[in-house]
Amino acid sequence: MRVPLTICDFLDRAVTVYGARPAVVDEPGTAGSLGTVTYRDLDARARGMALALERMGVGQGERVAIVSPNAARFMISFFGVSGFGRVLVPVNYRLNSDEVQYIIDHSGASVMLVDPEVDEALRSVTAKERILLDGRADEELFGPAPAGRDPAEWEADEDSSVSINYTSGTTARPKGVQLTHRNCWLNATTFGWHTGVTDRDVFLHTLPMFHCNGWGMPYAVTAMGCLQVVQRKVDGEQILGRIADHGVTLMCGAPAVVTAILDAAETRRERGEDVPGRDRVRIVVAGAPPPSRTIERVGSELGWEFIQIYGLTETSPLLTINRSRAEWDDLDGSERARHLSMAGAPAVGVRIRVDEEGEVLARSNHVFEGYWNQPEETARALDGGWFHTGDGGYLTDEDYLVIADRKKDVIITGGENVSSIEVEDCLYQHPAVAEVAVIGVPHDKWGETVKALVVLRPGEAATEAELIEFARGRMAHYKCPTSVEVRPSLVRTATGKLQKFKLRSPYWEGRDRLVSGG
Ligand code: AMP
Repeated sequence: MRVPLTICDFLDRAVTVYGARPAVVDEPGTAGSLGTVTYRDLDARARGMALALERMGVGQGERVAIVSPNAARFMISFFGVSGFGRVLVPVNYRLNSDEVQYIIDHSGASVMLVDPEVDEALRSVTAKERILLDGRADEELFGPAPAGRDPAEWEADEDSSVSINYTSGTTARPKGVQLTHRNCWLNATTFGWHTGVTDRDVFLHTLPMFHCNGWGMPYAVTAMGCLQVVQRKVDGEQILGRIADHGVTLMCGAPAVVTAILDAAETRRERGEDVPGRDRVRIVVAGAPPPSRTIERVGSELGWEFIQIYGLTETSPLLTINRSRAEWDDLDGSERARHLSMAGAPAVGVRIRVDEEGEVLARSNHVFEGYWNQPEETARALDGGWFHTGDGGYLTDEDYLVIADRKKDVIITGGENVSSIEVEDCLYQHPAVAEVAVIGVPHDKWGETVKALVVLRPGEAATEAELIEFARGRMAHYKCPTSVEVRPSLVRTATGKLQKFKLRSPYWEGRDRLVSGG
């Protein structure tokens, strides 16, 4: 027998087995906050959303974009959109209006859902239907389905798309990663298995839901009927408060989230206050390799379990996982942290290989279908039947992967990808700029930060502050250079190519890896 694997399975199970349980605690104090929603209510609201989309004439296969920080409405959309044959387009809410408009147009989204916090900044962005998530304009969309009214049947197809997740990579514009139901199903179950998710877990949404569908963890914890607590902002003290209030056991984030928590915990200890979660919380970290000192502090200062995973939006994302194993039980904290600073061993069903040039390649059922409407880019990424990650690394004797370098021209700052080419394109628009190279340099808080090396046109002048301001007026702020160095020239190869690794190397001297998580 072959039954299609769809993300509907997760909510179906939760509502059948745990219907009366609280499912989601929404962020308090936001417009239209839904308070606490049970699994039965989450299901009714997801069906209500499908009905409302049907009434609006949004057909199966059509795209629905959402631009919002974490919210209960985002959770409803995961199921209310993708669970009924439509495709969710989660958008980074920090992007500017031009960047969001590109994604709306490129994905062909007919509906755009906008959080009030970013509504003003995105005022000029247009879509066929633009709906504000304020609890009034969206009342019909997020209300429960009336009893006895069911949305139209969707002929479940595991190879159809759950979502198109836009990710910055090696092209100036982001590419739309098409994740299928099969990708998301297998990623969620494998991820949930490796991290040991059970129906006793309480999950805190510290990871943005827009980022690879919260890495797929929302599906895994829904299937187990876990309580899920919405966290809108990365605020260390607020996170600690919610961990204490709700008995949180599990969360995910970039290394910058870990740093924010460690800082807040330190302040608490100085004030003689408790730090919650000892021997209870597991924190799953990805996006960049965190320094082993940070990993050690998670154990020694918080008493939490640190788990590292590695993957990309294109791989749903789980490729490798590093969780402390029995063989490491007798190691001291710093030695165990050293082991945990590797990206990890391949997850079940994942094959990893490093090619002659040192690029990490992967094969798995979590690897995406393709880039939306970019067949050439898809063919390049999947060349030879392996997914090309663009990351550089090596495998240890026990097949643990270490990410040591990046082959692609991408900077990862605070867990979000920035395309160097996009930043370069932007700075080239400045009349004084003749040449520019954008590189990632280490940064204590963000892991890496964007630096621009600029050659000015003869007779022209531009200050560092002016160039940074110029970029901030045109791109999402997290993508903008935090420093600009004006140079007389940039060294090129005989064929006129810039060698980024040479430009980067002075800033990374004395480090064993050329990528950093802080
Ligand atoms: P994204 O598609 O935005 O999730 O970014 C994926 C990229 O993040 C990968 O290609 C890596 O460069 C980086 N990355 C993710 N996890 C790790 C990790 N554990 N260690 C090092 N780099 C990572």
